[in-house]
Amino acid sequence: MLTNYPTTKMIFKTKKIERSVTLTKESCEGILSYCKMNHPNEMVLILKGKSKAGNVLVESLVIPPFSETGPTFAGFPSSFLPLDLSYIGMAHSHPEGSAEPSLDDLNNFFGLVSIIVKSPYNNEDIFAWDSAGNMIPVSVSD
Ligand SMILES: [Zn+2]
Repeated sequence: MLTNYPTTKMIFKTKKIERSVTLTKESCEGILSYCKMNHPNEMVLILKGKSKAGNVLVESLVIPPFSETGPTFAGFPSSFLPLDLSYIGMAHSHPEGSAEPSLDDLNNFFGLVSIIVKSPYNNEDIFAWDSAGNMIPVSVSD
């Protein structure tokens, strides 16, 4: 049997990948308390976890070696980091202003996701961004 495929009517739909970031309760609390500890300076943490089908799961946190922090700068030389595929991104705080990534933040993007927490560092002050500066929804799992 022959089938005529209506080739001219074929529609290709590119499925948009819905991305999201999930924090375990422990990693969420860890990020927030580390922000508060370092206030009024910025803090920076490495996010460990895994990524599956667009969802980034943050399971634990690593304090980066040789980190330098100040009121407007939090960074570390990534060349000092061991190659570890479970490092999926970074979190840092913005003690003042919004949780939007600065140009420097985007230029120094590390991993898959960048979490920025603004003062006063509550659950609703946590925002996640991709390397293009698009917001990714964040949720906390039990
Ligand atoms: Zn920043």
